[in-house]
Amino acid sequence: MVADFGQQTTPKEQRAAETCKLHPQTMCPAFGALRVLTRLEGVQTVLISDTGCFYGLSFVAHFYAARKSILAPALGTAELSSGKVQEAALAAIEEAAKAPNATLIAVLSLCVAETAGLAVELLPKEVAGIPVICIRVPAYMIHSHPEAKDIALATLLKRFVQTEKTSQEKTLVLLGEVFPADPLIIDSLLRTIGARVLVTLPGRSLDELHLAEQGAAVAALHPFYRDSLAYLNERGMAVIGGAPIGAEGTANWLRAVGVALDLDEETVEQVVAQEEQKARGFLASQPLKGATIFVSGYEGNELLYARLLIEGGAHVPYVSTSIGQSLLTAADETWLRAHGTKEIIYRKSLEDDKKALDKWPFDLVIGTTSLVALTKEQGIPSVYYTNVLSVRPLFLVAGMIANIMMVRDLLNRKPIYQQMVSFFAA
Ligand code: SF4
Repeated sequence: MVADFGQQTTPKEQRAAETCKLHPQTMCPAFGALRVLTRLEGVQTVLISDTGCFYGLSFVAHFYAARKSILAPALGTAELSSGKVQEAALAAIEEAAKAPNATLIAVLSLCVAETAGLAVELLPKEVAGIPVICIRVPAYMIHSHPEAKDIALATLLKRFVQTEKTSQEKTLVLLGEVFPADPLIIDSLLRTIGARVLVTLPGRSLDELHLAEQGAAVAALHPFYRDSLAYLNERGMAVIGGAPIGAEGTANWLRAVGVALDLDEETVEQVVAQEEQKARGFLASQPLKGATIFVSGYEGNELLYARLLIEGGAHVPYVSTSIGQSLLTAADETWLRAHGTKEIIYRKSLEDDKKALDKWPFDLVIGTTSLVALTKEQGIPSVYYTNVLSVRPLFLVAGMIANIMMVRDLLNRKPIYQQMVSFFAA
């Protein structure tokens, strides 16, 4: 008998080959909540965690959210082991109440505070007349920063949007941190069918939350606002599924808005036909035809982006995202699978992405920082997903054209990447 020793792996090697899903492989998920809160005017944020978390989170918040002071009790090993977390949290909240012009104190309870036994329920609801909200976002409970945005927004809504008010007819509340032009473009199209955007959340002011209370319907432009949508829906607000992405997505979304807001069907169909005509006119040449594109990110809207590329003619066999699978991702997932996407990975890891690189010959990688560092070395044109997303509109025909044109330019850069590989190999 000849044993095939080449096939044998030790338990240690096996564990190394398996993908670890216990840690999120992204920036601290609490950052999403911190971003939503620090960008609100008048909010004083208090982080309850150890000094390491505080250092990292205040750094990224100053960089990617708002340049605002964040308060935190000094919690090192000595303080944590002496069981003084509750007292330290209370003292920090009282300190926050002294900040000039503070209109809300937002307390974030993170991994270390939670495991050290912080009793969030016992923290005050108000200090010196200033409301206090507590948001629990330890990474072992909230696995990605987009989902932490939802937790923060839902907590704000539950505190400030409570009473039933007469809704402003034919108005829509949008959920999602989008390119600033997107809500304006959506609003101008909605006005042609007799509706309008009332407000886009998360925003910059607490007043916008009160305004949201009056919306007739709500639409999540990103598929991870589960808690926020559920809360507004419980209050009687109609929910519009999906987002106005690409030709097909835009048509379906406009029809859904028409039904939810009881708009004139004929007018809606006319505008749908106009939008479809513009979109199909552009897509007729299939600008991305022949290209195989890799999509991976941790923003939570990767499935939407993949749809755009496929409508542009690209083959997108693999999409990965940091968010979890839910009812809000179901329609996009079904659409992608029906249009040639073979693998859709939720709660992705870098190991998942690396395995996919071996399965298809990619012409372009739109991915995370660590992934694109690897694929650039292989001579594949590669860009950082977040940068691509943050600088141009995404929705309706305008967003579709802007993105597809940009991707076409990126595909043309293949010779430059290959020259770079040859240069360093020489
Ligand atoms: S809150 Fe948790 S995930 Fe975030 S930096 Fe601290 S320990 Fe890490």
